[in-house]
Amino acid sequence: MIARTHDVAAATALLAVLLSQPLHSVTLATAVMALVANQIGGIAPDIDQPTAPFWRNLPVAGIFGKIIGRSLGGHRFLSHSLVGLGLFGFLNYWLLNFLHPIMPRVDIGLVWWAFMIGMLSHLVMDSLTKEGVPWLLPIPIKFGFPPLRRLRITTGKKAEHFIVLPLLLVVAAWLFASNYTEISAFVDQFRS
Ligand SMILES: [Zn+2]
Repeated sequence: MIARTHDVAAATALLAVLLSQPLHSVTLATAVMALVANQIGGIAPDIDQPTAPFWRNLPVAGIFGKIIGRSLGGHRFLSHSLVGLGLFGFLNYWLLNFLHPIMPRVDIGLVWWAFMIGMLSHLVMDSLTKEGVPWLLPIPIKFGFPPLRRLRITTGKKAEHFIVLPLLLVVAAWLFASNYTEISAFVDQFRS
């Protein structure tokens, strides 16, 4: 999947989870941090791909990306598995606890979840592609959905641009529309 699809998928997943609980207790600082963490989580697994958007914006991108990519076992390896998800979850927990003293108004538990939801959405979305995802590493089998490989999507091709991405946007719009009252009440509390 391309980066844009991952961004939208991560945000849609976050929206779905956030809306399943009362929004009013979330502070603005938490909401902003959660969104940032969610978007980072949404592209984090591609840290193993030297050409990924994760690296493109950094000056030393090429070399650094290659080193990290190799140590994670190449594209769609460790960072695209449940073990990787746990590892990133641990690092994320450690980092957030380290940063908490400088951002006391942020609910780091929620920010942690936002990152994890973003990362999980990445693995789910990549499972729809022909390549599949090695969910159960160290068992070296790549899983995909549907199980029949030829029914899956090729990254960056028409099906992704014209079916998957629009579908995600429809789901996001539907979530917004069906929770409009709650969302506008949430936004209003920051106006005053
Ligand atoms: Zn990926």
